[in-house]
Amino acid sequence: MADVYANLIGGEWVTSTAVSRNVNPSDLSDVVGEYAQADAAQTAAAIDAAASAFPAWAATSPQRRSDILDAAGSALLARKDELGRLLSREEGKTLPEGIGEVTRAAQIFKYFAGEALRLSGERLDSTRPGVDVEITREPLGVIGLITPWNFPSAIPAWKIAPALAYGNTVVMKPADAVPASSWAIAEILVQAGLPAGVFNLVMGRGSVVGEAIVSSPKINAISFTGSVATGRRIGARAFESGKKFQLEMGGKNPLVVLDDADLTVAVGAALNGAFFSTGQRCTASSRLVVTAGIHDRFVAALAEKMAALKVDHALKPGTDIGPVVSQDQLEQDLRYIAIAKDEGGRLVTGGERLTRETEGYYLSPALFADTTNDMRINREEVFGPVASVVRVRDYDEALAVANDTEFGLSSGICTTSLKHATHYKRHAQAGMVMVNLPTAGVDPHAPFGGRKGSSYGAREQGAYAREFYTTIKTAYVFGG
Ligand code: NAP
Repeated sequence: MADVYANLIGGEWVTSTAVSRNVNPSDLSDVVGEYAQADAAQTAAAIDAAASAFPAWAATSPQRRSDILDAAGSALLARKDELGRLLSREEGKTLPEGIGEVTRAAQIFKYFAGEALRLSGERLDSTRPGVDVEITREPLGVIGLITPWNFPSAIPAWKIAPALAYGNTVVMKPADAVPASSWAIAEILVQAGLPAGVFNLVMGRGSVVGEAIVSSPKINAISFTGSVATGRRIGARAFESGKKFQLEMGGKNPLVVLDDADLTVAVGAALNGAFFSTGQRCTASSRLVVTAGIHDRFVAALAEKMAALKVDHALKPGTDIGPVVSQDQLEQDLRYIAIAKDEGGRLVTGGERLTRETEGYYLSPALFADTTNDMRINREEVFGPVASVVRVRDYDEALAVANDTEFGLSSGICTTSLKHATHYKRHAQAGMVMVNLPTAGVDPHAPFGGRKGSSYGAREQGAYAREFYTTIKTAYVFGG
């Protein structure tokens, strides 16, 4: 029997009788590994370990915290090819995308190595004579991190690194479908010298491990990324028990293309934004809102580019689009393709289940035209390589359609007009606005997050991450 990758609890690698097989979606005969499934008792032990480790870690000098995060970043960089390959094997994004994501995770660790040293307070003059007012930031305690499957390395990194940088301890549950990348980060943190109990990894189902984290009174805060349904449930539970929480959830991100757009730029942005990473990005450009004058040329040019995309095994050189992550997700994608057809959408290209040399979840990227914004295909997140075009008259209608959604993560526009770009930037109801760029693809040092139904709570990433991972203390001192 293959070795079982164990959970990390209080500095010990702890296995369990239940294991899950991590299977490569590009090749169902390729087992990436067997990963221990924690139960509620092991999760409770991990939380206890994190609670015990908290006082010492909170008191550890920022230089030491910085050094450990920096070492972890260096290790990720040194192993980016190997771990990028592992990521592509477990999640199905192409090898360059996998290596790129691990590189991103390394950069995030290095960024927060710096932030550990830069955390500063503030001093105010008091309204009362002889009194000083000092504002400082302190860690929260034990943070529960719950992550989705679509960025197996980067999302754990952008939660773990700030949590640790600011002196918190962590219990993390990665998505059950992709434990390998998180396991590798756990091993790297141990090798980087992180004290026992400061970071704990508990792998397993959301219904078991996730529930145990959310319901524990010893967890002080929860950072969650995943679907709206799960996020809202977790948020309600966290609120009831007085935990601080942040939720990053779904998107139905519009990419507006105006008549005056550079066609090559617009088609490139749509192709990348809608279909790269198999469309499995919360920031994917799934709604293409196109004005009448460029509509037909845009649809034809995009369809031509899509037909040239190579859908195949994620590790094969030349593959543009890897498989869908799982059977469940594939079924969801196909269900939405059928719904869009039933609703009267015109399938321009793609949407076919594909067979390849290896058995995997291959789907050709699908483009629908002649859709309206009230159709389900334009209102609900598919989370696959499926995009639809809404034809609009002019800029004003484009903006109205772009904003007519319950989501608000990322919103893009392709135009050569400064006037429209500026207006859109000001009026798009989204946390992130992209001009002449795909809606997906962000920088690791800039704040990330949305509004409306997409997000709740403080932003992630960059210096703004401190708003979630620290709490403010205001001290009044009368020196006489
Ligand atoms: P999901 O089904 O909501 O799962 C997310 C995580 O929550 C997984 O680890 C899952 O465990 C866990 N979970 C499930 N039920 C739980 C419960 N009752 N209590 C605690 N934890 C529970 O989402 P997903 O399918 O993995 O990811 C896709 C979604 O993530 C999409 O909607 C996408 O838009 C969103 N996303 C958002 C962002 C963003 O930053 N806005 C970024 C990436 C992805 P399991 O392992 O059992 O599934």
